[in-house]
Amino acid sequence: MTTEQSEIDPSVPPSGAGCAECDPAGGWWVHLRRCARCGHVGCCDSSPAQHATAHFRATGHPVIQSFEPGEEWFWDYRTDQPLDGPELAPPTAHPVDQTVPGPADRVPADWRSHVH
Ligand SMILES: [Zn+2]
Ligand SMILES: [Zn+2]
Repeated sequence: MTTEQSEIDPSVPPSGAGCAECDPAGGWWVHLRRCARCGHVGCCDSSPAQHATAHFRATGHPVIQSFEPGEEWFWDYRTDQPLDGPELAPPTAHPVDQTVPGPADRVPADWRSHVH
């Protein structure tokens, strides 16, 4: 087993349909990333709060998979490189009717001035 594979647990379902930190706080995000180790769903580096990267810094869980519909890529924060990963427990993306940025009812009109 390689280091990369030991950082991935395909049996863990995602934490939810939205960012685990933004959603209860009433926040919004651009894209979502899923921790391949513990299922934490966090917002991407374009989002105002960047919780996916914060999760890596806080936990050391280094591998994420895109949680966007139709995207299957994995990313390793340690190397800043993509990597290949297994099929993770479903669902592997947020609902297709959830907007980008989203959720639609929380995204401010001037959202472009808040993204990174
Ligand atoms: Zn967030
Ligand atoms: Zn994690």
